[in-house]
Amino acid sequence: MSQEPYEVAIIGGGVCGTALLYTLSQYTNISNIALIEKNSEVALVNSRKSNNSQTLHFGDIETNYTLEKAHKVNRAATLVKNYLLSNDQPQEVYTKYHKMVLAVGTEQVAKLKTRYEEFKELFPNLKLINQQEIAEIEPKVLESRDTNEETLALFTEEGYTINFQKLSQSFLDKALADDSKAIDVMFKQKVVKISRQDGYYLIQTSQQTIKAKTIAVEAGAHSLLLAKSLGYGKDYALLSVAGSFYYAPSVLKGKVYTVQLKKLPFAAIHGDPEVDDPNITRFGPTAKVLPMLERRNYATIWEYFKTAGLSFKAIFSFIKILADLTILRYILLNLIYDLPWIGKRLFIKQVKRIVPSMTLKDLKFAHGYGGVRPQIVNLNTRSLEMGEAKILGEKILFNVTPSPGASTCLQNAQDDATRIIEFLGDDYTFDQQKFVYDLVEVNTSLDSSPSDKATVT
Ligand SMILES: Cc1cc2nc3c(=O)[nH]c(=O)nc-3n(C[C@H](O)[C@H](O)[C@H](O)COP(=O)(O)OP(=O)(O)OC[C@H]3O[C@@H](n4cnc5c(N)ncnc54)[C@H](O)[C@@H]3O)c2cc1C
Repeated sequence: MSQEPYEVAIIGGGVCGTALLYTLSQYTNISNIALIEKNSEVALVNSRKSNNSQTLHFGDIETNYTLEKAHKVNRAATLVKNYLLSNDQPQEVYTKYHKMVLAVGTEQVAKLKTRYEEFKELFPNLKLINQQEIAEIEPKVLESRDTNEETLALFTEEGYTINFQKLSQSFLDKALADDSKAIDVMFKQKVVKISRQDGYYLIQTSQQTIKAKTIAVEAGAHSLLLAKSLGYGKDYALLSVAGSFYYAPSVLKGKVYTVQLKKLPFAAIHGDPEVDDPNITRFGPTAKVLPMLERRNYATIWEYFKTAGLSFKAIFSFIKILADLTILRYILLNLIYDLPWIGKRLFIKQVKRIVPSMTLKDLKFAHGYGGVRPQIVNLNTRSLEMGEAKILGEKILFNVTPSPGASTCLQNAQDDATRIIEFLGDDYTFDQQKFVYDLVEVNTSLDSSPSDKATVT
């Protein structure tokens, strides 16, 4: 192996890996980068069009987010929105639909009113709408509903549905269009081992070994496996939570969310039109615990157990999380939603909370849809963490990205680019000003400091 070392090697070509490649290529003076992806093209795992809920999460209608979390997610999602507004005029990557979160019953209505007061300053486009207004915007939500039941919704026109697979391809195309950089994209190469030699990293793939000065591991759930192989991330395990979907004919014109259980780190079941086909409404995702790092990839079952590390600490943490009756009940119920015959008959109850007139005949299980959210288990606190985790090592970083990891891909890229420049030393620069100028709305005051997600060194 005589090749010159790459300045940066990015492992994983999902929306996070490609967003980082785009950011490094456009806004830094790093000139030689490798992107290593085990599949034959970008974004065939969680960022695939069919594997996630296609929502650009801002935190305005996600009722399990605190105001603080909503601030961060809003800032991050705005970068993606602005990227799309500048780079996707024909709207091939995204569709704009309205969105709402629906409260049903006195208790939920009261909660939503309080939330509105707390969040309205951060989200000035958000408004409370009453039963009559809901009926005008989304007639099916009120059709066949008991009108004595109090209903209220938080509504905004600012709903973006995104094909994150196409977004990843767009990031890659933009990066490769810049001739001044040497960017090598290596598809069909799985990274099997990373080691350190003479101050460089040796990355062994299924086809070759390459050398790099720094590495960003953007490999979804596999990031933790690779981190652990180098002795990092020992305080984490994963609870892999698969999400499935059901299809129905067009019953909704925009996104309709339900009020979320605060304890759960994933989005509540919602209904919305498919990104490129308003004639299909998707309901989901469910939340089924599976011992796998990637959905429908059975080779990852063994990798899951290697990642979990079956220590007492890990087993104890899982028992403690599942001993919470809210979580246990939710997980057990969700196991059934994927089963034939009975699954649909139970899941329709969730759908009817949104569209009461839904019939069994119209609801179809979306076979082959849905990925696995790598939910982070903190082995020290023995609890589930709400979002992504970043693990920092010596000139290497690892990102584990459950939802809303696709919405935060550019914020993540900004944070990672900052750290990689620090890893590389004084000769390297990141033009944060240009990044902010290009991707931040003029009237949005975003700072450029790395965001404070769970970070372990
Ligand atoms: C059901 C569900 C619904 C979701 N809904 C939303 C949503 O509405 N909005 C949102 O923002 N987020 C959502 N998410 C989360 C979102 O999909 C992810 O956070 C995001 O796609 C993560 O991107 P990524 O690039 O980190 O990972 P991925 O897209 O999974 O990409 C990782 C890449 O790394 C590659 N890789 C892994 N190991 C190796 C290796 N050893 N060598 C080489 N390559 C490797 C993989 O092949 C893959 O291409 C959802 C997730 C699920 C499962």
